Amino acid sequence: MPQNIHEVLHRVFGFPDFLGQQEAVIEHTVAGGDSLVLMPTGGGKSLCYQIPAIVRDGVGVVVSPLIALMRDQVEGLRQTGVRAACLNSTLSYQEVLEVESAVQNGRLDLLYVAPERLFGERTLELLARTRLALFAIDEAHCVSQWGHDFRPEYLQLSALREHFPDIPRIALTATADEPTRREIVHRLGLTRAPQFVSGFDRPNIRYAVVPKNRARQQFQRFLEEHHRGSAGIVYCLSRRRVDDTAEWLRGTGVDALPYHAGLGAEVRRRNQDRFQREDGVVIVATIAFGMGIDKPDVRFVAHLDLPKSIEAYYQETGRAGRDGEPADAWMVYGLQEVVTLRQMVEGSSAGDQRKRLEVRKLDAMLGYCELTTCRRQTLLAYFGETLPERCGNCDNCLTPVASWDATEASQKALSCVYRTGQRFGAGYLTDVLRGLGNERIRSFGHDQLPTHGVGADIDPYRWRSVFRQLVARGLLSVDMEGYGSLRLTEASWPVLRGEEEVLMRQDVRPARAKAGRKPKEPLPPPDPATWDESLWEALRTRRTELAKAQSVPPYVIFHDSTLREMVHHRPHTLEEFARLSGVGETKLSRYGDEFLEVIGEHPG
Ligand code: ADP
Ligand code: ZN
Repeated sequence: MPQNIHEVLHRVFGFPDFLGQQEAVIEHTVAGGDSLVLMPTGGGKSLCYQIPAIVRDGVGVVVSPLIALMRDQVEGLRQTGVRAACLNSTLSYQEVLEVESAVQNGRLDLLYVAPERLFGERTLELLARTRLALFAIDEAHCVSQWGHDFRPEYLQLSALREHFPDIPRIALTATADEPTRREIVHRLGLTRAPQFVSGFDRPNIRYAVVPKNRARQQFQRFLEEHHRGSAGIVYCLSRRRVDDTAEWLRGTGVDALPYHAGLGAEVRRRNQDRFQREDGVVIVATIAFGMGIDKPDVRFVAHLDLPKSIEAYYQETGRAGRDGEPADAWMVYGLQEVVTLRQMVEGSSAGDQRKRLEVRKLDAMLGYCELTTCRRQTLLAYFGETLPERCGNCDNCLTPVASWDATEASQKALSCVYRTGQRFGAGYLTDVLRGLGNERIRSFGHDQLPTHGVGADIDPYRWRSVFRQLVARGLLSVDMEGYGSLRLTEASWPVLRGEEEVLMRQDVRPARAKAGRKPKEPLPPPDPATWDESLWEALRTRRTELAKAQSVPPYVIFHDSTLREMVHHRPHTLEEFARLSGVGETKLSRYGDEFLEVIGEHPG
């Protein structure tokens, strides 16, 4: 039964309009064309293949590496009345048989398959004798060996075209840098397919990078001011830091759970499950966590350690605010992080070409941290987009940062490095510059140096900031032995010779919490004229009850944004209820009365 794509959008998904490029992609796919779709996280990629799969004859096969999420994705679709199932290693044999029979008898719109499963003989045979609507290759950047999420199983997907030459293929990703894009096209044989590229901006995410000064206190203040009880993700570099941080957070009353490759599969699954299914859980994780996390209401992503590239940073922070509501991307960053990452990258055993690439990526990341201008403009420029105006929603736009002429200070710092023999770290160098006369300094005779005491007018906090920025810009390098001693580089000399000026960020030392600093402006509050907190809470409670009864995450019943519309519009009839965004026919009949009842109990 051929259906109109607008009708499906309204009746099945309950949305009034398409977003961005959705309509163009869907029309192209329904007509049988291949394509590459680049959309930011939260841009609405799923509908791009779900609607064509519903409209076209046969079953749409979705290849996804996110086995842990397949059940929830399938459940979300079933809630809207779409016939979906998945095939992966978590299914029992009985379940596999049921899914296979549904596929064969044309009783499915969508089938989610793990890539390693797809090319198993059994699945290939099944698909060969089934009518297929399309192949959707989700998280397509996993095919890129230069990318940060490379999955060897994805390489097999290049054979899809030979196996199924007549079936349209649609590859989707939120990672957009040019080399990755070229590699996807090449490996998946999409040279002649059109590319649908959407703007990568995530206007609802507020970016902030804070110079480190007692990271835990800074993070705690951030949570207290903006995110008590919010769901969030905290990224750390090592397993040990993940465990420590999670434990510390629990001690402060945050419902925090660790996630890293060193935990047993069972623990990881349980923690991810709680994060996915409950309100207000904070996950503390290494980057092993979260590829394609499908939780729409993550309110913040915090980096306590620095990511290795802007792509990684953008993808990790992109997990916040997929529902379009305000969210924070917050990061602390200090000299120690720069030193550690430089050592990791430059000391890695990777080949030369790879290493140069990693160094370049790290340089771009450090440059981003040290910006004094709009962060969003720089992020988007990195992905080839231009944002003409400052964004007004990043720390540098909201609280402009001064820069200062640090040429002289840099010369003093570099010359101090040189004269002490390029064997010391920033702490010791600062002591020499400040003219301290302690035992250690005297024992090396460094109190006799001309640089001893030339920096007494600059406080240690500022010196730390100077050294960090020198390392970040490659004006100093870090030794590989692990003690963090600093050395001159080629680039140091023009500065030392006075041929180059150095402008630096003027880091403002954060006030002590006790000093009674006013909290920063909180996230915009709901409009008080129509907002009813007790109705909101009651709706959330009903949603949780309904979700628990079916053991599904609350957001597959309704997203926050739909509950919010209920508070604002207070529908009283099913007809009014059907007009809310996110209410399709199936959900209307399943849940309309349930929520109307709650609204009826709260007369406005
Ligand atoms: P992506 O996979 O690109 O990260 P999703 O497909 O998960 O994004 O969609 C992100 C959010 O946007 C989801 O909550 C989805 O329900 C919502 N959404 C998608 N398309 C529309 C639309 N046309 N109108 C309103 N909301 C939409
Ligand atoms: Zn900005």
